Amino acid sequence: LWRRCLAQLEVELPEQQFNTWIRPLQAVEDGRTLRLLAPNRFVVDWVNENVAGRITELVDAVGEEPTPAVVLEVGSRPAAPAMTINTHQPVAATRAPAYIAPAPVRDIPTVLGSRLNPDFTFTNFVEGKSNQLGRAAAFQVAENPGRAYNPLFIYGGVGLGKTHLMHAVGNMIRARNEHARVAYVHSERFVGDMVKALQHNTINDFKTAYRSLDALLIDDIQFFAGKDRSQEEFFHTFNALFEGQQQIIMTCDRYPKELDGLEERLKSRFGWGLTVAIEPPELETCVAILMSKAAQTRVDLPDEVAFFIAKRIRSNVRELEGALRRVVANSQFTGRAITMEFAKESLRDLLASQDRMVTIENIQKTVAEYFKIRVADLLSKRRSRSIARPRQVAMALAKELTSHSLPEIGDAFGGRDHTTVLHACRVIKELRESNTRTSEDYSNLLRTLAG
Ligand code: ADP
Ligand code: MG
Repeated sequence: LWRRCLAQLEVELPEQQFNTWIRPLQAVEDGRTLRLLAPNRFVVDWVNENVAGRITELVDAVGEEPTPAVVLEVGSRPAAPAMTINTHQPVAATRAPAYIAPAPVRDIPTVLGSRLNPDFTFTNFVEGKSNQLGRAAAFQVAENPGRAYNPLFIYGGVGLGKTHLMHAVGNMIRARNEHARVAYVHSERFVGDMVKALQHNTINDFKTAYRSLDALLIDDIQFFAGKDRSQEEFFHTFNALFEGQQQIIMTCDRYPKELDGLEERLKSRFGWGLTVAIEPPELETCVAILMSKAAQTRVDLPDEVAFFIAKRIRSNVRELEGALRRVVANSQFTGRAITMEFAKESLRDLLASQDRMVTIENIQKTVAEYFKIRVADLLSKRRSRSIARPRQVAMALAKELTSHSLPEIGDAFGGRDHTTVLHACRVIKELRESNTRTSEDYSNLLRTLAG
């Protein structure tokens, strides 16, 4: 019976709606009732609102005697497909999350952004002190989505592995249950899709699609800053998912409380679960990452070369990878083995331009290490002396060593005003003349950074 209705609905409904809302339904028929089991209450609500009437009509039209009653509820069929009439046990009508439920194959509708990247897994994520907490939290979430930490909020600078970790969680949830509905969406994409949905009057589809997920991974939420309509929409999505114990994972380039242009109610919600920082990797982790990437591509990378690259490319993992790729490509092209000499030669241009070009990131990292604080502290709003002073030193160094403007520097330090940077430069200039300690610190840092 259901199969016949299904065939008809497939013809009548837009493909995306059909795939999103109808395909996930499991049918249990016993002659008197057609019980439709939905993976979650959002599907139930949508079907009730939009096609329940039509389904009843179709069931009528099939003309079974007596006409079966249609029951729609949250639940899942027992795993064994053999279903004998009359011994059917009523399934628990709890809000069983879909990742436990065996269900037909469901595609993530295209409204929901891009797919998970299968290359980003826990297996190839190298653990180090800098990312240990983030990794552990992410792993627990992957083992127990919606129940371990919700939301999970990961923040840290660019190229440190936030996106990688996020996909790793998504991939693991999917590996443990291939039917779990997991969507990865970059915040920019969320904003863009929402605007399109508003224009095309499909905002309700947009809403319901998001709310039917088992896990929503939303990357780089700093893009929501200043976009009120998107924040509003995300706020409701967040609430719906949270209430349904559906997992939310977010990343951001800074601590959420310090993101300007973000509504307070969102900021406070982001802290309801667990917030973890990812720090720039220390040398050993950089080396381990290089060795791991080399092993993955079956490249023979001598330890000393790995150390050399890790030491010289200091800003982030993405650039570390870039440097390794360059050496490997060069080696494959010339057929020469990767020796120290060869690596130096391959990276000569890169290193030369890097030496000439000190980045703000690099300054932050070096200053944080020097004062034994975290980069996140430098970007934070904390004002204690032990943080504020190093922050001013870092800003002054950024002004002296890079060609960035004051507003750009302010922005790179957790979105501060250019007057704050200017003030920092003046304070440091004065202290260098009056305070030997600051003067020494500054010279040391200058030497480390500019050689
Ligand atoms: P972010 O999102 O923080 O800017 P990404 O997750 O995009 O950074 O990471 C940049 C690159 O570095 C990716 O190719 C990622 O695989 C790699 N990477 C980052 N951290 C690690 C790690 N701990 N182990 C292995 N690869 C890593
Ligand atoms: Mg990223």
